Amino acid sequence: MEVTIKNLESYLAKTYGGFAEKNGVPLAENNLFMKLVEEMGEAAEIINKKTGRKAGDGSDLNSELGKELCDIIHYAVAIAAVNGLDLNDIIIEKDRAAAIKYNHKINLEDFIRSEEKDV
Ligand SMILES: [Mg+2]
Repeated sequence: MEVTIKNLESYLAKTYGGFAEKNGVPLAENNLFMKLVEEMGEAAEIINKKTGRKAGDGSDLNSELGKELCDIIHYAVAIAAVNGLDLNDIIIEKDRAAAIKYNHKINLEDFIRSEEKDV
């Protein structure tokens, strides 16, 4: 099964939505942001182990890194969801602007279109 950004955002809006607001800001947002930062720290620790800056404990660091990156995505998308942001469109728009700014050969939108043609 493939998961889309829209699937995840919709699911997380249901999971974390409906929290009370204060001055127009969902109260869940602060908690979600703190969790996002915590997960980034966990990912940093694993990368430090992978690169030898910190002693490893014999665990499968690549597998652990995947789980922490998943946690980061979870909380980043959750913050977007509780704010009613459409990350799908924002990702396309941001990448289009970045591709121009950094002179990329292709942007995400064109890449997706070329992949669809190949199928
Ligand atoms: Mg974690």
